[in-house]
This record gives sequence, structure tokens and C-alpha cells, in this order.
Amino acid sequence: MPAATTGVKARKFRGEVFITEDRCKECGFCIEFCPPKVLEFSKEFNRHGYHPPILVNEAGCTGCDLCGLYCPDFAIYGLRVPVESPAATASAAGVSPLGNDASGVERVRQGGGI
Ligand code: SF4
Ligand code: SF4
Repeated sequence: MPAATTGVKARKFRGEVFITEDRCKECGFCIEFCPPKVLEFSKEFNRHGYHPPILVNEAGCTGCDLCGLYCPDFAIYGLRVPVESPAATASAAGVSPLGNDASGVERVRQGGGI
């Protein structure tokens, strides 16, 4: 008798979001156009008095980067990180696979869902 299958496929990628909060002008494009609707406005203010987005459903982010494509201020982008890769390991340790931001602007990594 063949072994039963669960029907659950392991994902090869997971999504992560990087947000430079102080660049955000609160236009809401990233929240509006995120396909799985995993972003919301933070209740906190950035240094210019705007509410930046936060990731409210880490597992739902696919890393599609539509948020990055629509953001007029380059304040957010998404990445698809291979699961079980060196990049995923570095990312899990809080290090961006893209390296340090030469601008010196602090970026906030959010996500890591499957
Ligand atoms: S990378 Fe895609 S799924 Fe993730 S927050 Fe951005 S638009 Fe949404
Ligand atoms: S699209 Fe960019 S500027 Fe607009 S709310 Fe999102 S992060 Fe802020």
C-alpha cells in the first residue's frame, strides 16, 4: 500500500520586508497594493510625524516586493529569501542579505514567515 501524502508542500522561499521608517510619508500605497494585505500603519510616529507601515502578518508576506515598487520614497522593499540558504541564515540573525545601507539610515527587518 502506498504511503499517504499530507498534501502540504514545503516552500522554497519566505518573504521578508525591510522598512526605513524615517523615509515614509504615510501615502499608504504599500498597504493598499500588498496582495496578501499584510501591512498596516503603525501607531508610532517616525521622526517627521508620519505613521510608517508595519508587517502585521509575518507568515503572509511572500517577498513579492510590490510594496517596494509602489513606494515613492524608497522606504520599503520586500525580498524572497530561500529557505535553508546562507542568506536565510544571515537574515535570521538580523543581517540583510543586501549588506549594510551606506546611507546610514536605519532599516527595520520584518517578516520571516513561511
Ligand atoms: S513583499 Fe509583497 S507580500 Fe510582502 S509586504 Fe511587500 S507587497 Fe506585501
Ligand atoms: S508606500 Fe512608502 S511612503 Fe507610502 S506608506 Fe508605504 S512606506 Fe510609507
